Amino acid sequence: MPTRKASQPSSRMLELLAGAEVLSRTRDLRSIFRTAAETAMRFLDGSYSLLFSVRFTPPDLCVGLLGCCVSDGTDTYWDDVCDGQSWLPVDPLLADCLHTDFGHAIMHEGDTWRLAFAIGALGQAHWVLEIHSPTKPQESDCSALSLFLRCFENQQQAWEYANLDTLTRLLNRKTFDDDFERLIAAAELAEQALQTPLERREPELAVAQPCWLGVVDIDHFKKINDNYGHLFGDEVLLRVGDLMRQSFRSHDKLFRFGGEEFVVMLRNVAEDHVQSIFDRFRQSVEGQDFPRVGRVACSVGFSRIDPRLSPAELLGRADEALYYSKEHGRNQVNGFDELIMSGKLRITTPAGQAQIQSDIDEIFL
Ligand code: GH3
Ligand code: MG
Ligand code: MG
Repeated sequence: MPTRKASQPSSRMLELLAGAEVLSRTRDLRSIFRTAAETAMRFLDGSYSLLFSVRFTPPDLCVGLLGCCVSDGTDTYWDDVCDGQSWLPVDPLLADCLHTDFGHAIMHEGDTWRLAFAIGALGQAHWVLEIHSPTKPQESDCSALSLFLRCFENQQQAWEYANLDTLTRLLNRKTFDDDFERLIAAAELAEQALQTPLERREPELAVAQPCWLGVVDIDHFKKINDNYGHLFGDEVLLRVGDLMRQSFRSHDKLFRFGGEEFVVMLRNVAEDHVQSIFDRFRQSVEGQDFPRVGRVACSVGFSRIDPRLSPAELLGRADEALYYSKEHGRNQVNGFDELIMSGKLRITTPAGQAQIQSDIDEIFL
């Protein structure tokens, strides 16, 4: 019996599958974005691609650039400096593809083809990928790419499930623990730069400033639950999460630590600004009218991130400052260093005392 000869899979299709395989074992969010954009661009022989996040608040449809990928014919380069939070109105091509279910739109512009792929079901796409290519791709290639982008969406959903708090959609406690090393790497670089004379610093660290860890705790939250019920308590948590997103910058890390406690990691903030940044957030909570509950307040304690300290020690310092805020009237912000310097806070644990003493020695010896 004659056997049917297996068709030779094209090497480009194999590359696309290889990209999907890499994507399926990528855990870091930025790497997920990069792998998707690079693989898709190479598959269509594109010269560059742009990955956008999508925000649809009827009637406005906006996109924010997350990163772009450029090819010089041999290598590809990815730039993810953009935070995806600077919203722009969509242009007709992007709008066109977003009116489809995992669909795409094509436009001929000058000597290139602009292609846009919606990533997500109709009306629920959270991303759109734009690719510029010198040749018009075949319809079957576009369909293959749409399937690949479904893998991207699945991986992104898995990332969210593992890393975000389900109620507030802030980062969860597990992510803080898992990523701690990476989170303080920025602080370490900044502290090294701050100890180097300005003229000898790497150019990108010329304006380095310290990193900070803040702990936010809602005041008398138990009473809110007791008086209005858990549902309205949850609504307060949700809105405090929104106020955090609005108050802090998009590259600051925001975590819900559990219950009514939140943690903020601020990057590159000068010492004389940090108090006012946390205070601006405190005031935004104080000024908000919460449904049914009315006024809510929160207390904050913060500490400079010293990369030599463990997560527990760093949190301990911010917690000491938070405890001071609670003990001295609530609805206020206090910094650990300032409390120690002014003699308002004394460290009672031997480990804490030893650490403070070594810090003082470092300053004065
Ligand atoms: P303080 O001002 O000293 O912080 O007092 P508090 O009442 O805010 O603090 P306490 O630790 O006594 O109470 C926290 C409450 O938060 C107790 C718990 O029932 C409630 N809580 C924890 N997680 C959740 C949640 O996910 N939803 C709701 N609604 N309540 C929660
Ligand atoms: Mg509380
Ligand atoms: Mg608490």
